[in-house]
Amino acid sequence: MPDTQYVVAIDQGTTSSRAIVFDHGGQIVAVGQKEHQQIFPRAGWVEHDPAEIWTNVRDVVGQALGRASITAKDVAAVGITNQRETAVVWDRKTGKPVYNAIVWQDTRTQKIADELGALGGGADRYKSKVGLPLATYFSGPKIRWILDNVDGAREAAERGDLAFGNTDSWVLWNMTGGVDGGVHVTDVTNASRTMLMNLDSLTWNEEIAGEMGIPLSMLPEIRSSSEIYGNDREGGLLAGVPISGILGDQQAATFGQACFEVGHAKNTYGTGNFMLLNTGTSPVPSKNGLLTTLCYKIGDQAPVYALEGSIAVTGSLIQWLRDNLGLITSAPEVEELARSVDDNGGAYFVPAFSGLFAPYWRADARGALVGLTRYVTKAHIARAALEATAFQTREVLDAMNADSGVDLSELKVDGGMVQDELLMQFQADILGVPVIRPKVAETTALGAAYAAGIAVGYWSGEQDVIDNWAEDKRWEPSMEDAERDRQYRLWKKAVTKTFDWVDDDVS
Ligand code: ADP
Repeated sequence: MPDTQYVVAIDQGTTSSRAIVFDHGGQIVAVGQKEHQQIFPRAGWVEHDPAEIWTNVRDVVGQALGRASITAKDVAAVGITNQRETAVVWDRKTGKPVYNAIVWQDTRTQKIADELGALGGGADRYKSKVGLPLATYFSGPKIRWILDNVDGAREAAERGDLAFGNTDSWVLWNMTGGVDGGVHVTDVTNASRTMLMNLDSLTWNEEIAGEMGIPLSMLPEIRSSSEIYGNDREGGLLAGVPISGILGDQQAATFGQACFEVGHAKNTYGTGNFMLLNTGTSPVPSKNGLLTTLCYKIGDQAPVYALEGSIAVTGSLIQWLRDNLGLITSAPEVEELARSVDDNGGAYFVPAFSGLFAPYWRADARGALVGLTRYVTKAHIARAALEATAFQTREVLDAMNADSGVDLSELKVDGGMVQDELLMQFQADILGVPVIRPKVAETTALGAAYAAGIAVGYWSGEQDVIDNWAEDKRWEPSMEDAERDRQYRLWKKAVTKTFDWVDDDVS
């Protein structure tokens, strides 16, 4: 281990940016955090201001270093993890974004996705190459939208003046000097969320970029998730420190949870849920509505792939109960309310608020609360809302088992909702396998720190991650098989009630 003692992870997330200082044992020493504005110009549109994000990143690094009472000389490496798919396009000469960042949840590119699908192959047009269905979720069509809709952007892009990146590349470019020699790089995990990267060769697919009208000169260089990309700029708070790890947030959590063997999986419970299953060194195509994506690549080692089940609405349904219905005043209250009854009273709540993601990918679905009778109270609805997270997770797990041919024997969990013990027990009951929460719940930042630390020799490799990982709590399934089957059958029936809701005159 070098003389320097800490690794800093920058977690550029959807709602906030954070910097966390970790020690060699993988423990948190200090945290800095700042939220940024969520910009909703119209229904379905979600934007962030990239300049605000960059300012906040600098602020939170300052907060974290200050709280840890350390300076750049005490830091061995910096890792970056980020909200994935969110697209930033900026001018390399001025360093200014040409438009706000278009966020992963934004649905404005539905028409572009439909038009590309209509060229042949429908939603699966590019799936065999990039592992993803055509959907509004991914970066490529968002870049196309910016080039089509911002005055002069297409011409500037064709002159080679514009650069694209997810927020990892935006932060890295600025940290390494911006207009003064900033490094324009991304890692394989972020690149695998653009719809533009060949899964097998880890290179940009010129044909797809051509069909989307995206000049290759805009795209960052694709590198591994753990290597030195550059050093923090002169005058920066971390001046001279190597920036040596990048992982998209869900992949970083998978890394931080030490899911290094084929068949290991983690599930993150946040705004939405994201389950990733390590499938080893070759990509596994999904027949069951999952995404094939990069899991990580350490330096020159072979890339590791994952199957991913993305669920759009889980924790945000609890926020909806709080903000839109006023049923609770804070998210943790949902557990108390739900515990005041023994079961869901027959109510099932399918939160298809923006259609259904995995495993259905139905843009035509909308939310439904079914099974209602005079008996049902707000406590049953709170319970049904929590159970919705567990049922959706079961559907994703079933798809994982079917795609991989191996039955998962346990599930590691993290994210804000895993504090909810009622949900965790119900999750174990509905899956029929143990659910395990680790001691360090900040698995996303931790994963990015490990990737960065491994690249500079601060940690020797995956074994250090495995050794540092520790279990906090485990929930064992206790529901009878027949009852589990009955509830899951009713959930599946409830899901069918959400299909086909969106007609031409319904948005
Ligand atoms: P993200 O990283 O996506 O912003 P977090 O991992 O911070 O999300 O998780 C926050 C989410 O968890 C919120 O959507 C909130 O509604 C939900 N949440 C937080 N605490 C609880 C709880 N005790 N029970 C149920 N849901 C909760």
